[in-house]
Amino acid sequence: MARIGVAGFQHETNTFSTVPTTYEDFARADGWPALIRGSAMYAALEGINLPASGFIAAANRARHELVPLLWCSATPAGRVTRDAFERIAGQLCRLLADARPLDALYLDLHGAMVAEHLADGEGELLRRLQQVAGPALPIVCSLDFHANISEAMVDRSAAMTAYRSYPHVDMRESGERAAALLDRILARGPLVKALRKLPFLIPLTWQCTLIDPAASLFRELASMEGGAVADLSFAPGFPPADVPECGPSVLAYAADQRSADRAADRLAAAVSEAEGDFAGKVWQPREAVREAMRLAPPTGRPAILADSQDNPGAGGHSDTVGLIEALIAERTEGAVVGLLCDPAAAATAHAAGEGAEIDIALGEGSRLPGHRPLAARFRVERLGDGRFDATGPFYAGNRMQLGPMALLSTSGVRIAVSSRKQQAADQAMFRHLGVEPREQRIMALKSSVHFRADFEPISSAVLIVAAPGANPVDHRELPYRHLRPGMRLMPKGPAFGGNSA
Ligand SMILES: [Zn+2]
Repeated sequence: MARIGVAGFQHETNTFSTVPTTYEDFARADGWPALIRGSAMYAALEGINLPASGFIAAANRARHELVPLLWCSATPAGRVTRDAFERIAGQLCRLLADARPLDALYLDLHGAMVAEHLADGEGELLRRLQQVAGPALPIVCSLDFHANISEAMVDRSAAMTAYRSYPHVDMRESGERAAALLDRILARGPLVKALRKLPFLIPLTWQCTLIDPAASLFRELASMEGGAVADLSFAPGFPPADVPECGPSVLAYAADQRSADRAADRLAAAVSEAEGDFAGKVWQPREAVREAMRLAPPTGRPAILADSQDNPGAGGHSDTVGLIEALIAERTEGAVVGLLCDPAAAATAHAAGEGAEIDIALGEGSRLPGHRPLAARFRVERLGDGRFDATGPFYAGNRMQLGPMALLSTSGVRIAVSSRKQQAADQAMFRHLGVEPREQRIMALKSSVHFRADFEPISSAVLIVAAPGANPVDHRELPYRHLRPGMRLMPKGPAFGGNSA
């Protein structure tokens, strides 16, 4: 039995986003729980698809004594403010100091946090925690699939293990795996490590583990574990982050250096060989709408349009209207769009009431260059308070708190509007407003990949669309300045700092 501190501080930072991530964004609940301290963590995290939930359950089964410190997350957006990072890191360090003596510390981290004053948020957080706890305390972390792993993060922890699925249906399982790794370290001593960074960025859309090459690569990863190799991770990375550590990584932990190096080299070679296969068709909005109309039956089994570039899960504002305009221009019927985050529109709809008509400019909050809101007359079809339980595999078991919501319609297109940003990856988000997704002809979802877990099984087709948004599928559109020299901006594409950057 060991005495283990448990904490989490999750953020995925899109450094190109103009919207900073504040302390308030971490403090309040959204699609995930609010900032929580101490034993309140148990009730808030129980039964949810989150790494800390899995770790706590596994560590309890192993009869460890847990000391819950603090857990928080914020929706992906721009850099974490200095104020937010310093306040949360400061609280965590104080709680850790008060919790001593400890035998180990578990951290539920994302691995792609960038603050206003720090390029490597997790590397700095780990440095400070080590300073408080001393270098001998084993720190084991779970990381998101999209972690941009730094050498500092690896150096300053005993082990890290990343999710293996995108959609991330295995977050809880990853926390359980972190618990097993920690048990092994406590029982048999420290593991040695090998980190390999790959020289090309992979668009989020083509990182999906339901399709190749990622599906095959993760099968290969699993087959390489066992014996001396304790744990392997392939983190494909979070591309819209202008930092030197941006990009895919392979990470191996083993009993001896030779085994760690050999496993890391073999997995990295398999990823490199697959470089050109991380690709697929990206549709322009109007051609995508026409194709969706052709593929989808009039009712039942909707065609899914993935509005990937405005995906709030990648730091999009979730309020661009380019795809809505294409649906109107193509005179579609039976199309539903969501979730469009516009608190002012939701408030106006609530003030007017169901059945009313309102003249508003939808999507005004976005400060995306060249983006114009959609000025039109909308009918308020349905209102909701934004509180409901998620039912799909990604947000499994979670209580959503998305603020006032409204279903608006204009020119035959219905739009699910929320007051807080959350990726459209759960059918309950639409049922909350009286829309049964499987009965629609077209569902346009602001999501890159996570929607697939709950929506692909009911769909007739999935089309990836390049409509306006802060998360371009083609990274050549992003004004990078701080990547590692030679990094290819796209698989088999031009190199940063090379002749065509
Ligand atoms: Zn992720």
